[in-house]
Amino acid sequence: MIFNRSQQLFAQAQRVIPGGVNSPVRAFRHVGGTPPFIASAKGAYLYDADGNRYIDYVNSWGPMIMGHAYEPVVRAIQQQAEHSTSFGAPTELEVLMAEQIIRMVPGIDQVRMVNSGTEACMTAIRLARGYTGKNKMIKFEGCYHGHADSFLVSAGSGVATLDIQQVPGVPASIAEDTLVAPYNNLQAVDLLLEAHAGEIAALIVEPVAGNMGCIPPEPGFLEGLQQRCKAHGIVFILDEVMTGFRIAPGGAQQYFGLDADLITFGKIIGGGLPVGAIGGKQAIMSHLAPAGEVYQAGTLSGNPLAMIAGYTLLRELDLNRHIYETLATRTRQLADGLNSEFAKAGVVHQINQFASMLSVFFTEYPVRDFQAAKAAGNELFKQFFHAMLRRGIYLPPSPFESWFVSYALSEADVEETIQAAGESIREVFEHPAGRA
Ligand SMILES: *Cc1c(COP(=O)(O)O)cnc(C)c1O
Repeated sequence: MIFNRSQQLFAQAQRVIPGGVNSPVRAFRHVGGTPPFIASAKGAYLYDADGNRYIDYVNSWGPMIMGHAYEPVVRAIQQQAEHSTSFGAPTELEVLMAEQIIRMVPGIDQVRMVNSGTEACMTAIRLARGYTGKNKMIKFEGCYHGHADSFLVSAGSGVATLDIQQVPGVPASIAEDTLVAPYNNLQAVDLLLEAHAGEIAALIVEPVAGNMGCIPPEPGFLEGLQQRCKAHGIVFILDEVMTGFRIAPGGAQQYFGLDADLITFGKIIGGGLPVGAIGGKQAIMSHLAPAGEVYQAGTLSGNPLAMIAGYTLLRELDLNRHIYETLATRTRQLADGLNSEFAKAGVVHQINQFASMLSVFFTEYPVRDFQAAKAAGNELFKQFFHAMLRRGIYLPPSPFESWFVSYALSEADVEETIQAAGESIREVFEHPAGRA
């Protein structure tokens, strides 16, 4: 595979963009090498600037659940663009979008649209603090809730990938209000609740973690969190930026039968355009300005292009719910195939799979939390990643990111991926670390 054009572009990019990218994980810092610069994509495939084709398991980190350039969404965007791309005034589309979200996700009354998952989570925390009059919050090690100051404590995703212990620029006075517990550990939460009784505004959790690799919740974990929040008057926030409209039409709230106070959305909700949202109970949501005094605003919030893209995609998902079974089946086929290839090669491994999310960890121990994810054979992952890339399989360039399966991925694509994985793992073993 030739990467000449990508190498040239990456060199050029590094002169004018910090690190050459507009979001850190894209830079391949963890796995090394040059990131392919993408020229176009269609369905399950990415095409880079050198004309290489890849089967895509990043899918823009989640949004492209139907695959790239999904025609109904593309057409809707084209048509809307003719009518102007922004007004800064209310539109019918925003009403349709809010109603669509409320129809699909059980237990929420109102929705506020924002421009990213970061903004959604930042708003949720401010709202919880404004509503309760308290400052502290609980989050979990390895979970990522965007890059707002309060969340950059023991964060997953790029913070984990770059192994940043403490983010410079986050004031200690802000970080000290963020309490951290290991994922899947209710006892640790109980200790925090005891030590900080009456001080906690909110608890935020990824219902299926996807930013330390994919780590599903153990039975009773989410229910236990919800019950503790209700008992202590703590605002229970599900961060469904990743899981929303992915693990089920109504996300984790529906899948696990939860009743969160607030839910944050992003990724799929924008159909590939920059969108986030916060949904929740009227009693809390009504504190957002202008209904209440918890201020939040956005010049481009509810942007018509983003609304039509998201609305079109959500409607497709809503009307074709069989999509979710197919996605889960495909992803299970992939997991089974990988399992058998790794086993044949004699590699210790764990495959965590949940709906259309999947992660590979090279370890003999089950991976239930961030410590376990960090302790896995991440050197081996780097080599495996590059061996796969050379075979035209585009994986997330970090073991701390989930793979995403799209509906455009065919059985033949899955077979090709499994075969590539078998070849890759054997290649890595024949040329061990440093000599590959
Ligand atoms: C991606 C992600 C975010 C941040 O969303 P952005 O749109 O990247 O700001 C927040 N929470 C979770 C769970 C995510 O996966």
